[in-house]
Amino acid sequence: MNTEIWYFPVSALINAVTSTFLGFYLVFTSLKKRVARYLLYFCFAVAAWSYGYFMWQMADNATDALFWVRILMIGAIFTSISYFHLVLVFINIDKERFYRILLIIFYFFSFLWLFLDFTPYFVVGVETLSYFNYWPIAGPFYTPYLIAFFTHVIYASILLLKYYRKIHGIVKIQTVLLLLGLSMAFVGGSTNYPLWYGIDIAPWGNSLVSIYVILTVYAMMKYKFMDMKVIMAELFAGLVSIIFLVEIFFSRSISESILRVLALTFVILFSMMLVRSVRREIRGKEEITDLAHSLEKANLKLKELDRQKTDFLSIAAHQLRTPLSIMKGYIELIEDGAFGKPTKGIVKTLDEMDESNERLVKLVDEFLDITRIEQGRTKFDFAAHDMNKMITNTIKELQEKADIKGQKILWKLNPAIKNVYMDDDKIRHVIFNFIDNSTKYSGESKKIWVSLEKEKDHVVVKVKDEGIGFDKQDEVNFFQKFYRGNNVKGTNVNGTGLGLYVCRRFIEAHQGEVWGKSEGLGQGSEFGFWLPVKRA
Ligand code: ADP
Repeated sequence: MNTEIWYFPVSALINAVTSTFLGFYLVFTSLKKRVARYLLYFCFAVAAWSYGYFMWQMADNATDALFWVRILMIGAIFTSISYFHLVLVFINIDKERFYRILLIIFYFFSFLWLFLDFTPYFVVGVETLSYFNYWPIAGPFYTPYLIAFFTHVIYASILLLKYYRKIHGIVKIQTVLLLLGLSMAFVGGSTNYPLWYGIDIAPWGNSLVSIYVILTVYAMMKYKFMDMKVIMAELFAGLVSIIFLVEIFFSRSISESILRVLALTFVILFSMMLVRSVRREIRGKEEITDLAHSLEKANLKLKELDRQKTDFLSIAAHQLRTPLSIMKGYIELIEDGAFGKPTKGIVKTLDEMDESNERLVKLVDEFLDITRIEQGRTKFDFAAHDMNKMITNTIKELQEKADIKGQKILWKLNPAIKNVYMDDDKIRHVIFNFIDNSTKYSGESKKIWVSLEKEKDHVVVKVKDEGIGFDKQDEVNFFQKFYRGNNVKGTNVNGTGLGLYVCRRFIEAHQGEVWGKSEGLGQGSEFGFWLPVKRA
C-alpha cells in the first residue's frame, strides 16, 4: 500500500470519527436546542458518507466496493440538504412560507436520488483508475444530483452572506466561521468529483471535511456562551496546535519527533491556560455587568419608594397643619378669657399644651419644607438683601430662649458686607436653625459666637459653640434626612434630624455649601455655610 492510497481511507476514518464524536457530544450536551438537533442530523450525514468512504476504500472486490459507494452516496445526498436546512434554522427563516416550499422541493429531489442510488441510473458500476481499484462510474442521474448538491451549497452561502451583512457582534463571527467551514468543505469535498468525469484529480481535499464539521459545530454551539475574545483565543490556540501536530509527521528522526511531541504538549498546555484565563476574565466582566444591572434596578426601586414616602408625608402634613392652627387659636382664646376667666392651673396647663402644639407645628412645617423640596415645589425669591440686618434680627428672635438658659450669643456686625443676593427667608431659616441647635446642644456652656466674613467672592457665616461637639463619624451624616447624631444619644433634647437637611438643600439652591466641624465629643462645634456674593 503506497502513501497516497493510504491517505484516502485514513482521511475518511478521521472524518468519520470527528463527525460521530461531535454528534454524540451534541446528544449529551445540547439536544434541547433546535439548532443542535439539525447539527446532529448534519453530523450523522457526514458520518455516513465518511464510514461509507472508508469501507469502500477497504473493499477487496468490486461488489463490496459498489455497495459501499452507494452507502457513501446516501451520506453525500444528505450532507448538502441537511446543511442547507441547518442554515435556514440558524438564520431562523425555515418556517417562512417561501423556504418551506423550497425545502419540500429540495427534499423531494434528495429522496429521488436516494431511490435511484441503488439502481444503475445513479452509479453504474466500478472501474480501476489511478490510485483507486474501484472508482464508481456515473449513471445518467448523477449529474442532476451534482447540480442539486451545488445548489444547496451555493444557496446556503448566499443566505449566510446576506445574513452577515445584517447582523452585528458575535453572530457575525459565528457566520464567518460557518462560511469558512463551508468553503473548506466545498473545496475539500469537491475534489471527489473530477475523477467521475475523467479529470485526473484525486480527492486530496477530503480531510478538510473534518475541519468543516468541527467549525460548524463550534460556531453554532459555543458562541452563545462567550464573546469574541474567547473565540479568537480558542481559534488561535487550535491553529497553533494543528501546526505543531502536523510538524510531528514531518520529523526526520525519532529524536526529532519526540522533541516535537514535547513541544506540542507544551503548546497545548499553554493554550489551555490562555483560553481559561480569557474565559475567566470574560466571566468576571459578565458578573460585574449583572451586578450593575441589579444595582440599577434596586436604585430605581428605592427612588420610587422615596417618592411614595414624600407623597405620603406631604398629604399627612397638610392634613395635620389645619387642626393644629385651630387648636392654637382656641388655646389663645381660652387664655384670653373668651370662655370665662381661666384659673392659674388652667393657664399653666394651656401653656404646656401650647408648647407641645408649637413643637408639633414646627415638626409639620419641617415635613412640609421637605416634601416641597423633594417634589421640587420650593419657591425661591432671590434679591439683594442686607445680611447684617437679617442676622441681627434672627438673633433677637432667639435671644429670649438663650436668656432662659443663661446663654450669650456674641455677634459682631461686619459693615464691609453690604448686599447679598439671596432668598432672605431661606437664609434666615438656616441661620436660625444653626443658632437654635447651638442653644439646644450647648450643655452647660454659655457662649455662642456668630460671625459674618467675606472670603474672595463668598460670604461666610459661622455659628460656633462650646457645646457637646461630635466625632468624625457623625460629621458626614448630619446633613442627611432624619439623621440624629450619636452625640445626642442619652441627652433629653428633642429633635427630628430634619433641620440640617433642609438647611443644606436651601444653601445648595443658592449654589453655596454647608459644613459642620468639631474637634470631638465635648469640644464644641462649628456649623457654617458660604454663599456666592453674586449669583451667576
Ligand atoms: P435635630 O436637632 O432635630 O436632631 P438637626 O438636623 O437640626 O436635627 O441636627 C441633626 C443632628 O446634628 C442633631 O441630632 C445633632 O446630633 C447634631 N447637631 C446639630 N447641631 C449641633 C451642635 N451645635 N452641636 C452638636 N451637635 C449638633
